[in-house]
Amino acid sequence: GYYDGQFRDINEKVIPIDERGHQFGDGVYEFIRVYKGTPLALSQHLDRLERSAKALLIELPFSRTDLEKIIEEGIQKSTLEEADIYMQVTRGISPRNHLFPDTKAELSMTIRHPRQMPDEAYEKGISTLLLEDERWANCYIKSLNLLPNILAKQAAASKGCKEAILVKDGYITEGSSSNVFVIKDQILYTTPATKQILCGITRTNVLACAKEEGIQVREQHMTIDFIKQADEAFVTSTSIGILPIARIDEQHLSSTRPIIDKLTNAYQIFREQQVHIQS
Ligand code: PMP
Repeated sequence: GYYDGQFRDINEKVIPIDERGHQFGDGVYEFIRVYKGTPLALSQHLDRLERSAKALLIELPFSRTDLEKIIEEGIQKSTLEEADIYMQVTRGISPRNHLFPDTKAELSMTIRHPRQMPDEAYEKGISTLLLEDERWANCYIKSLNLLPNILAKQAAASKGCKEAILVKDGYITEGSSSNVFVIKDQILYTTPATKQILCGITRTNVLACAKEEGIQVREQHMTIDFIKQADEAFVTSTSIGILPIARIDEQHLSSTRPIIDKLTNAYQIFREQQVHIQS
C-alpha cells in the first residue's frame, strides 16, 4: 500500500485506502453534544443513526445497549463534562468494488472539547448566503457524503457568511449544516421534514418548545422572498443550538428578536431538564 509518502505493509494501522467511508463516503454519522457529562437527546440521535444506517442497508455493528455503553465509557475516559461526540459507521474495509462487501460495518468515534460559536454571534446574529441546493434526493439520511454541503459552507465563508442557506426549485430547504426557521406575524415557520432535508434533532426539540410556549407553528415550504421579509429568522443544530440570522444576502433583518429570545430561553430550560432526567 502507499500512504503518507511511503509504501507500507497493507495492514499497517493507517486508514486503509479500501476503507469504504474514505473511498466511497459509504457510511453514516451522528454528532451529539454532551452537557454536564450527559449526551443530550441520545435516544433521538441513536434512533436517527439506526434510520440512516437502515436506509443505506448498513447493519450497525453494535446493539443499541452496546452503543450506549461505548458512548458512556468514552465520555468517562475523556473526563470532559462538556464535549462533542462524533460517531461514524462505515461499511468497513474491502478491496474496491461498488458492490457491498461481506465485511462487518465499522464504528469510529471521537470525543472532544466542544467547538463553540462566540457569544457575539448569538447577540448580533450571523450573515447568511442563499445558494442553490445541489444535493441528492435523500438528504434525510445523515450520510458521510457532504461534498455539496462543504462547498456551500466554504462559498458562504468566502463572502463573510457563517452559513449557506440552500434553495431548491425556489424554496428554502435547509442550511449547509443546520435547519432554517422564520418568524412572520408571530408564526414560526420551518421547512417540512421531507426526504429533501435532514430532520434535525434540534429542529424537532425547538418545535416542541415553541408549541409549549404557545407559539403557532407551521411546517411549510418557504420562498426566497418570504425568508427575506422575515420578522426574525434563525438556524438550529446540535452544535449551535438556536442561532439568530442578522442578514440574508444583502437583506438585513431586525435586531430585536422577541420570539427568538423566548425560544432560546425555552430551549435552554428544555436542555437542562433533559440532561437532568437522562443523568
Ligand atoms: N441539516 C444538516 C444538513 C446538518 O448537517 C445538520 C447538522 N448535522 C442539521 C440539519 C441539524 O441537525 P441536528 O439538529 O440534529 O444537529
